[in-house]
Amino acid sequence: MNSSGSVDGVSLAHILEPVRRFWGYDSLRPLQEEAIRAGLSGRDSVVVMPTGGGKSLCYQVPPVTANRTDIVVSPLISLMKDQVDGLRACDYPAAELHSGMEPQARNEVLTGLRDGRYRLVFVSPERLLTDSFLNLIEQIGIGAFAIDEAHCISQWGHDFRPEYRRLALLKKRFPHASVHAFTATATQRVREDIASQLHLTEPAMIVGRFDRENLTYRVVPRVDVHAQTIDVVRRHRDEAVIIYCLSRKDTEAMADALMSSGITASAYHAGLSPDRRRRVQDAFAKESLNVVTATVAFGMGIDRSNVRCVIHATMPKSVEHYVQETGRAGRDGLEAECVLLYSGADVMRWRSLLRRSTEEASESPSTLDAQFESLERMQRFCGAARCRHRALSEYFDQSYETENCKACDVCLDETEGIEDGTETARKILSCVARVHECFGAGHVADVLVGADTERIRDRGHDQLSTFGLIKTMPKKTVMNCVFQLIDQGLLERTRDDRPVLILNEASWEVMRGNRRVSLIQAKKKVVTKTRGAVASWEGVDHGLFEHLRGVRRELADERGVPAFVIFSDASLRDMARRKPDSPDAFLEVHGVGEAKLEQFAARFLAEIRAFRGQ
Ligand code: ADP
Repeated sequence: MNSSGSVDGVSLAHILEPVRRFWGYDSLRPLQEEAIRAGLSGRDSVVVMPTGGGKSLCYQVPPVTANRTDIVVSPLISLMKDQVDGLRACDYPAAELHSGMEPQARNEVLTGLRDGRYRLVFVSPERLLTDSFLNLIEQIGIGAFAIDEAHCISQWGHDFRPEYRRLALLKKRFPHASVHAFTATATQRVREDIASQLHLTEPAMIVGRFDRENLTYRVVPRVDVHAQTIDVVRRHRDEAVIIYCLSRKDTEAMADALMSSGITASAYHAGLSPDRRRRVQDAFAKESLNVVTATVAFGMGIDRSNVRCVIHATMPKSVEHYVQETGRAGRDGLEAECVLLYSGADVMRWRSLLRRSTEEASESPSTLDAQFESLERMQRFCGAARCRHRALSEYFDQSYETENCKACDVCLDETEGIEDGTETARKILSCVARVHECFGAGHVADVLVGADTERIRDRGHDQLSTFGLIKTMPKKTVMNCVFQLIDQGLLERTRDDRPVLILNEASWEVMRGNRRVSLIQAKKKVVTKTRGAVASWEGVDHGLFEHLRGVRRELADERGVPAFVIFSDASLRDMARRKPDSPDAFLEVHGVGEAKLEQFAARFLAEIRAFRGQ
């Protein structure tokens, strides 16, 4: 080791020793070794790995191997707390410092830090950058800084936080410490921006594959948001599901709809009291609550690794957001499903929301342009009939080799064309012409399905030749077709407060019979097997697995920690597969290290024995 605590030429066995001891893992994931070696040799780095890829281990291992203290900068208190709880459960010496702590607890951590008791200390950027804290760590000597969620430093990233910019001073003030930036979502432009903003010196660029192969992506035409969501949630009985909605009101309405159909769910959004929010988060983390309907406010602080399904009731405003939000599914590496219920109407809604918020914040028009560009790329992702895994990889400048991913709606061939899309399109467009391009999508659809509304009667639209022309389809399906036509540029919608449908040159081509149109709908019957489902359940005794989940819930409750701190789903499945009958056999289970062996072996071995004896 040299004076700054960096270690070169360490053997893999030496790196693996703490990995086994603390976490019970036998090997490293792709790129973890490279990232850990950068941490050990004191070379700055930018590490981009998808959610669930194992970034934490990359900054957790170097300080224990080199026996030094490192700092982790993390933007959210709940995120820090979960990590530190998880580390403590493995007997790993870590602590957190944040504004929500009692002065006494804070002082204890500061004393421990001075005494060199911790290998890792988690702090928020604001706390790190206070003079007193900087002075303290200058005296102690810090080996490295790990910056979590580092995309926040770039204005090209999707969650720019101005306070992150000040982290630039670390390299100047601590010339002997290395700085390591970690993020799950960063295009090349953002990666380069991170390196230059932090003044990194010839950083190692360690970029993992973005593809999350355990996730199955589906983009489904939205016709009935509540009914479709309920259908998906039913596929995941007793499993964790997050449903993202655009507004607070939408989350409440969605939770009500789920409850009315017998599914326990809670809404979560920034308008709830802090106490209520905490209760929902805690219940979700402790697994006493499985289904949450939420705005994007829910998620960054959630570290439940066994989320089996993420549903978007509306399209997110960028691909980065989509990747980050769906990234909360299947962090344990086991199969999970992501369903986006898409309608072109979402694009219009976002456009007006974004316009309003840039005006209110008096931001420059170029910010709005950039946001519209991101929105358009997200829209293209939804509308294109291309493999979703391929499209996401390519978005992040990576190639995707697999011909058929077998894990997205496109490759699983789950959508089908509406029979004679051209004819349906012509009917819709003629109706727009008949109402003199003066009405919105809802009214046009009403006319087409032959609805009995006051407006139709008042205007005499029941006398139009297009009245009741598409009686066979529900109104919602007709609406979806209208938005598909807009997406395809075959119809337009004005951009004012009361948008109306108007025709363009392409519309007339269709009506004249010079252009064919394909419209899609979700297949009635979808085979919902997700990839990996067979492998990760192979040999697992389902009954025992459910029983062990109950035991985990009890232990989590007793200790007041999230369930994953006790064991991940992957560990429980492995336990229910191997059915260990001795401490040695228990140590073989995935995710069992020495600390967990000592704390939990007796209880779990007894439960397994009792279950088998039944
Ligand atoms: P990220 O921060 O990149 O989203 P995490 O660090 O939370 O991912 O890791 C995701 C999951 O993978 C965690 O449950 C973690 O314990 C597990 N994990 C990480 N590295 C390994 C490994 N080498 N072997 C087995 N499991 C691992």
